[in-house]
Parts: sequence; C-alpha cells; structure tokens
Amino acid sequence: MPKYDVILRGGRVLDSVNAAFYEADVAVKDGFICEIAAGLPADASQVFDACGKLVTPGLIDMHTHLGFELHTKTIQADDYCPAAGVTSAVDMGSAGAYIFPWYREQAIKKAAVRLFSFINIASLGTIAIHTPYYVKNYGKYIDEADTIRTIAENREYIRGIKVFMAGTMTGKWALPALRAARRVADATGVPIAVHISDSPPALPPILELLQKGDIVTHCFTAHGQKIVDASGKLLPEVLAARQRGVRFDIGHGAGSFAFSSARAALAQGFLPDSISTDLYYANVDGPVYDLPTTLNKLLNLGMPLERVLQTATLAPAQNIRRPDLGVLAVGNPADIAVLELQEGTFAFTDVAKETLTGKQKLCCDLTLCQGNIIYQRGAL
Ligand SMILES: [Zn+2]
Repeated sequence: MPKYDVILRGGRVLDSVNAAFYEADVAVKDGFICEIAAGLPADASQVFDACGKLVTPGLIDMHTHLGFELHTKTIQADDYCPAAGVTSAVDMGSAGAYIFPWYREQAIKKAAVRLFSFINIASLGTIAIHTPYYVKNYGKYIDEADTIRTIAENREYIRGIKVFMAGTMTGKWALPALRAARRVADATGVPIAVHISDSPPALPPILELLQKGDIVTHCFTAHGQKIVDASGKLLPEVLAARQRGVRFDIGHGAGSFAFSSARAALAQGFLPDSISTDLYYANVDGPVYDLPTTLNKLLNLGMPLERVLQTATLAPAQNIRRPDLGVLAVGNPADIAVLELQEGTFAFTDVAKETLTGKQKLCCDLTLCQGNIIYQRGAL
C-alpha cells in the first residue's frame, strides 16, 4: 500500500495566512492533508510534479448562483468549478427559506464541490427577480421566524444572510429588509451580505447597519451606490466600515465590476477582502468566465499575487467561518488547487467593455476536493 493517496511535489505552496510562498511537497491521505514538508517520499498512488507551479488551498468563490435557476437558466457547479480550481462556492441569496430545502437536496448535496448558502432574507429568494412584481412585493416575503428556523436547521450549509439593496430591485423595501436581516443575523450569529448597485438608498445608511464580519458585495460597481465619491475619493463611511471589520467583496457579475472603480480604490490602498465572480448563465460566457479570470483582472491592475490568492482562499473561508478550507495545513481537508502563472500578453474585459492588457495569467492545472482529483488539465 502506498504511504499517501496523492503527493504534489516541489510546488510553491501558498501560506495564505501570511500571504507568502514556500517550497514544499504536499501529501494527501483519506481526504485530508497529512504532511507538508520538503523532500517527502514519492510513495503515493498518484504523484504530481508541481515544480514551478503554485499550490494553493482550493479556491473559494464567495459569490455565485450555481444549481439554481436565475433569469430562467441554470448552470451547474460541477460544470464550472473544478476546471477553475474552485472547491467551494457560496450561493449569494438565490434561495430563501421557502425554497432552501429544495436547494439543499437538489444542488448542495448533489455537487462534487462544496456549496454554501447566504439565504435571502426574502423567502422567495430570486424567484421573479428583476420583475415589477419583485420590486413591489420583496418585503412581503420576509418571514423572520421562518428564516431563523431554516438557518438553525441547516447551519452546516447556511453561512449568512443576503439582502438586495438596489432601489431598482427591491424598491422601498431595501432598508426595511436590511433591518430585518440585522435582527435575523443577531438572533442566529451569522453575517449579512448586502448587494449594492443602484441607489436609493444611498450607501451610508446601508453601511450604518453593518457590523464586523458583514459583507458588501459588488464593491467595485460603477453604479450609484459606489464606494467612491464623484471625484473618485473613498467615502469616509466606507473607510469607517472597513475599520470596524465590514468586509468588501468583488461579485463581478454581468454589471458590477468596472476597472475604473477598481483603479480608484486600489490607488488609495483599498484592496478587496474577497474576489468573487457572481457567476450565472448571463456572465459565464463573458465578461466573467470563471474565478481565475476575475483574479487575473485584479492581478493585472497591480494587486500583489499573494494578496490576490488570499482573497480567494483565506478571506472567503473566514467569511463563511470555515478557516479549515482556506489554509493548507496538516489535518485540514485536502481541498487544493495547483495553478500555473503564465507570462505573456493577455486581454481582460470589464462590464463597461473596457479592455485591460496584462502580462500575467493564472490558469488551473489540477483540483482536489476532499482528496479526490476533480480536475486535471489535459486529462479527459
Ligand atoms: Zn449575485
């Protein structure tokens, strides 16, 4: 019997806590990381040469809509995550309390990758989203007691609460919905994630209701609730929110990530805490494609590689309170991605169709989830 199930030899291993690399072999046995050290014996059922490659925790996509119908079409987690190095994806509010049991049985439990949920504060979730009916009735579907019960019964999967703040999506219900989410969050001890895009409401009263560990997604939107003022300066309320521990997530999507907003924030030293895709059918064929493509955009805007990788490993793991998934350490689940950093000339596009030309591109070579190889580049 070989000593290990899988060994990844000679890669640059990411220390996601300190945002640094070190050279080591990583060995996997029975679904867990069993050793990390230089010069381990190549005594494994499967040996991979990771020389010159980056070995990172399995990527965690903090904002997705997978395995749930959104705008009439569904894309499945297992069709997109493995080839992207993604071993955990968080559904951002597709399901509310009325439909969460369906989502758990039909999406979460059937996927090879890990799916988590931020449950929508409105029990209908995203059913009928972007219709006049939704805007008019969003708040009528808020059932705090039922949402608290659903969270309590599904803690393994439900890691937070999602609220839409955009006036065009939830109209007059936005702030009352956030206040309801605050009460449910306080009762259950899970964080809130707010979707920002169009005002009303303005951003400051939204931020006022957020606490340490809560998340603002679509933080580099170019719409009315953006985090910078007309002159491109970060709002004082945004800096104060970060100061007290509110986290800022990309959530690229079809309309929520502009290089112009990113540049303004990065120039003031404001880096996103987590980088995520907001993946669904309308953006998977561009401009989003997948999580590495989204990471590449920030990388080529000048964010350091180690920090970029931290935003898709440690940071989202902290957001969902599963630090064991965001750190490569002995005893942690063997959720691992092997990435190649390619050099060349590459073009990237944002939601405003602006093109960014860059010199570096992360590309996924191998993905392990719970010790199982779920993707290998070039393999059938
Ligand atoms: Zn979304």
